[in-house]
Amino acid sequence: MSYSESVHADVVAKVEVAIIGAGYAGLSAALSLVDAGIETIVLEGSDRVGGRTLSEVRPTGVVVDHGGQWVGPTQTRLLALANRFGVETFPTYWAGDHLEIWADSRVNRYRGAGPDEGDGLHEYEEHITVLDALASTIDLQNPPASPGADLLDDESVASYLRREVPNEGARRRFALAVEGVWACEPGHVSMLHFLFYIAAAGSFDELMETDGCAQDSRFVGGAQAPAIAAAAYLGDRVRLGHRADRVVVHDDGVLIETTGGVVRADRLIVTLPPQAAGALRFDPPLPPAKARFVDRSVMGDVAKVHVTYPEPFWRAEGLSGQATIYDERETGVVFDNSPNDASSGVLVAFVYGRRVDPWATLDADARRASILATLTELFGARAQEPIDYVEKIWSIDPWIRGAYAANPTPGAWTAYGEKGWRRPTGRIHWAGSETSSVWNGYIDGAIASGQRAAQEILDRRA
Ligand SMILES: Cc1cc2nc3c(=O)[nH]c(=O)nc-3n(C[C@H](O)[C@H](O)[C@H](O)COP(=O)(O)OP(=O)(O)OC[C@H]3O[C@@H](n4cnc5c(N)ncnc54)[C@H](O)[C@@H]3O)c2cc1C
Repeated sequence: MSYSESVHADVVAKVEVAIIGAGYAGLSAALSLVDAGIETIVLEGSDRVGGRTLSEVRPTGVVVDHGGQWVGPTQTRLLALANRFGVETFPTYWAGDHLEIWADSRVNRYRGAGPDEGDGLHEYEEHITVLDALASTIDLQNPPASPGADLLDDESVASYLRREVPNEGARRRFALAVEGVWACEPGHVSMLHFLFYIAAAGSFDELMETDGCAQDSRFVGGAQAPAIAAAAYLGDRVRLGHRADRVVVHDDGVLIETTGGVVRADRLIVTLPPQAAGALRFDPPLPPAKARFVDRSVMGDVAKVHVTYPEPFWRAEGLSGQATIYDERETGVVFDNSPNDASSGVLVAFVYGRRVDPWATLDADARRASILATLTELFGARAQEPIDYVEKIWSIDPWIRGAYAANPTPGAWTAYGEKGWRRPTGRIHWAGSETSSVWNGYIDGAIASGQRAAQEILDRRA
């Protein structure tokens, strides 16, 4: 049966392009298509837009970003989108001394981009140069076509570090970097994906650093604000509460069955995180390479905890609020996330990788107690008396199923990536942060992916 012959009592819309997911990828694809005069609908299952960004005004009046929050100067697509909708940025607070708790609980206090001394520091910094050189060989448009891709994809970051980085302290630093940036353990990610991600950001330091890099600035009103403004601009083209369940592809169009009714479209853009895309039913089924690449793109594990105080009291003691923690406790990094006017003091603690499950399965009081104990050790007794505490565990978010992004398991890129990464499958186009060649896994990458998928459709009409 053709799409035009199919009879559905509950068809709610007939458009040229349907988009599943109203995160930054879906909204950006819609903006590109609507700006080009194409009839478009965005189908979002949850009751809000923004996906992996979520900005909440707390009872204290403070806006906390439970999800993505930072933007850096080379993330030009996100800055342009924010500018289009009048959302301003402000610099991340990082003046003063940063703290580093080493594995034996020694506390190191330092200033600037990194400490001058510390276990394995010299070897760590030297090896970053090696990684950047390796990353420069990666084919960003087709990572499995990179020189030596088979060997790089066979090997996990953990086994590479064991062989190439003899110093244990340096290895510990890289392990925390993987947890902090990829939200998984070094054994869970291949060297090919690790190097691809570095190359997509520009360099290892681009991912890791604050000033001038990925953690440079934050958004007034939170990182969800440009998404909310974009959705308002798109108006009733964005349908909340429309969870896509089944996609039926006909010779002359696509039917998308959602909880809000059936939508007919000539073409479809799927922007879901891989595990959520894998939960859709496709008729006919996706080609094997696509299905396997989706299956083997595993979401990271991360939770963010915001703790608010009447003022950023650590600043008066010359501390930046930034801390890096190398021992086995629940959090690996802490930042000052206070509002720009410092009208209150906010610390954000990240729980990631293997630390998430043991912490997330404690009861709520124990989770809070463990975070406050770490903050007290770092910043003193005043850390015990917050005026607000809130946490968001992304690993158990029903729509996203993990974060920050998906990491293909070792071997997946070379076995399935060429066909399965983002190549259109008939009438279905693929977007989402995981499909970007620039800032993969970031908001900027999500926007780039939405714009690329929209362009694929525009190119077909030209
Ligand atoms: C804790 C955390 C910290 C981060 N920090 C940063 C940062 O500082 N800077 C940065 O740039 N990036 C950061 N990121 C990553 C960034 O937020 C994401 O890469 C980006 O937002 C992904 O956008 P997306 O549109 O690709 O996907 P998503 O935002 O995941 O959007 C997918 C959408 O699809 C919807 N959906 C799911 N299933 C269905 C269905 N069946 N039917 C319809 N809709 C469905 C979801 O509800 C969601 O709205 C962070 C993420 C997290 C979670």
